[in-house]
Amino acid sequence: MSKAQCLLLDFDGPVCDIFAGLPAPTVAARLRATLEGAGAVVPLEVQATDDPLEVFRFSGGLSGDLNELALSALTRLETEAAGTARLTPGAADLMTRARNRGLPIAIVSNNSVSAVEAFLDREGLAAQIAYISARSAVDPSLMKPNPHLLDQALSHLGADPSASLLVGDSVTDVEASKLAGVVAVGYANRPGKVERLGAVGADLIVTSMVELADALR
Ligand SMILES: [Mg+2]
Repeated sequence: MSKAQCLLLDFDGPVCDIFAGLPAPTVAARLRATLEGAGAVVPLEVQATDDPLEVFRFSGGLSGDLNELALSALTRLETEAAGTARLTPGAADLMTRARNRGLPIAIVSNNSVSAVEAFLDREGLAAQIAYISARSAVDPSLMKPNPHLLDQALSHLGADPSASLLVGDSVTDVEASKLAGVVAVGYANRPGKVERLGAVGADLIVTSMVELADALR
């Protein structure tokens, strides 16, 4: 942490539990219903997923209109969810301490820009964040593990990848970090994640954001 010049935070996990109040399975089901209402045939494996982002990924193989519809519907649902999202313990302290040390912070998220903005505004954290690199494109393949969103944040901040940390709770965060050349910090917020994030090569693993905030004390 003492060598870091830039702090990049995944949103859902390290910053909040976006679906704390509006559960992910409900959002996934509503997104599927929107697509089916517009004529899409949703295959069994997509019917079975509880992850709204997986439903959006599926829409990338549909017509342009259905893909656009999925993007706008998911953005609306996530922004609604942001109203009842729960701040991750330690996240606000981490931001304050990083800023006190002059470290710029960017959010790098597969969730929509408007959901991230809505949550940061609600929590009074918007001023801590230098840049939001989050989902805005209709093309699902631009989401992590693609390093696109990370590269966009690094270039906006003029940051050296090797002196930047991405804190993320998913395998795709670690994979994107490796591709972008940033230090991958795994946030193992559920049982089994220490092993899963370690297996894909996380450089460091924490089980609490308080641990990271304390490292900047
Ligand atoms: Mg996450």
